[in-house]
Amino acid sequence: MAWLEWWMLDAFDASREFTGDLHSTATSLGQAFARPLPQLIAATDSAHVQHWMIRDRKPLKQWSKGRATLVGGAAHPTSPYAGYGAGMATEDGYFIGRHLAGVDLSDYAAVRQALDAFEARRKPHTVRQSQQAYVLGQVFHHAPRALQPIRDAILDRTPLMQKVVGDSTPGSILSQLGEIDRAEARFTALLGLGEAHGSTP
Ligand SMILES: Cc1cc2nc3c(=O)[nH]c(=O)nc-3n(C[C@H](O)[C@H](O)[C@H](O)COP(=O)(O)OP(=O)(O)OC[C@H]3O[C@@H](n4cnc5c(N)ncnc54)[C@H](O)[C@@H]3O)c2cc1C
Repeated sequence: MAWLEWWMLDAFDASREFTGDLHSTATSLGQAFARPLPQLIAATDSAHVQHWMIRDRKPLKQWSKGRATLVGGAAHPTSPYAGYGAGMATEDGYFIGRHLAGVDLSDYAAVRQALDAFEARRKPHTVRQSQQAYVLGQVFHHAPRALQPIRDAILDRTPLMQKVVGDSTPGSILSQLGEIDRAEARFTALLGLGEAHGSTP
């Protein structure tokens, strides 16, 4: 194995400079984890252990200007607590392709209209997911010390997380994916490729 990339998260006070040894910090953070994480850390060259801050940005009001638009992390950077930033970047690729399909790219007004429609379609969903990720990061790592036992009791003993993350989030993600599946099925039928590509219900 030439190199290995992995990541771990820990609360960190941004006003302090990190002066510890990264490899030994990662080793101690990884101790409580199951195999093979501790072994992966041990096998990682210290030169490849990095430290960087997760930052949250307020949602952008506008993604597109002229003929250009933003997608993925540039449009809606999402902290890791959603586990979905890359998923949304991939979905963006699908939706922008769908909105631009059949548009004459030399027609400025038509391209503008398609980009506006793409944005309008994607913004509410991505804003919701990135804001939820921000809130989870705050709850997990930045709750005031006095409130931490209450937080832990709520997370351990009530169905709150299940309701917020386990029920409603998969629902809204599945509705996006369902839309992709239905459009794909229509395209497949239109092109008469049902047999060759397999049909989507
Ligand atoms: C610690 C961590 C864990 C994560 N875990 C998950 C997860 O479990 N599931 C999930 O779905 N998402 C996860 N994400 C989020 C996911 O990584 C991002 O949402 C995703 O990478 C965004 O993809 P992107 O292609 O839009 O942008 P990026 O992956 O950021 O790609 C942008 C690229 O552009 C390059 N670039 C930037 N500026 C320039 C320039 N001027 N010129 C040339 N190149 C440039 C960058 O180097 C980079 O390679 C995680 C993120 C982090 C930080």
